Amino acid sequence: MPRSNRPRGRRPRGGSVSEELDVERILLGARHTETRRGTAWTVQPISAANAQKDYVCPGCGRQIPPGIAHVAVWRADGVLGDLADLEGRRHWHTHCWRIA
Ligand SMILES: [Zn+2]
Repeated sequence: MPRSNRPRGRRPRGGSVSEELDVERILLGARHTETRRGTAWTVQPISAANAQKDYVCPGCGRQIPPGIAHVAVWRADGVLGDLADLEGRRHWHTHCWRIA
């Protein structure tokens, strides 16, 4: 993939180089775990090319149409088992998840 095609988001003001790389890595799609209010969630970025269905974002209640990069989120603590957690995943607009 040509580097010129990579999305270039807003740069953190005054952020260090390592912080910027970290943000970029998340935006470009490494699966990672986030903890929200004591619950661990697996966050899997879905690229535009892999977004092939309509989803409804739980954050804003609006549709995520095919071709829009977003994130799939499911519980990472495994109380229901990995498969059940995966089946219960929700698709969020990237922005909505970040402010959720
Ligand atoms: Zn949303």
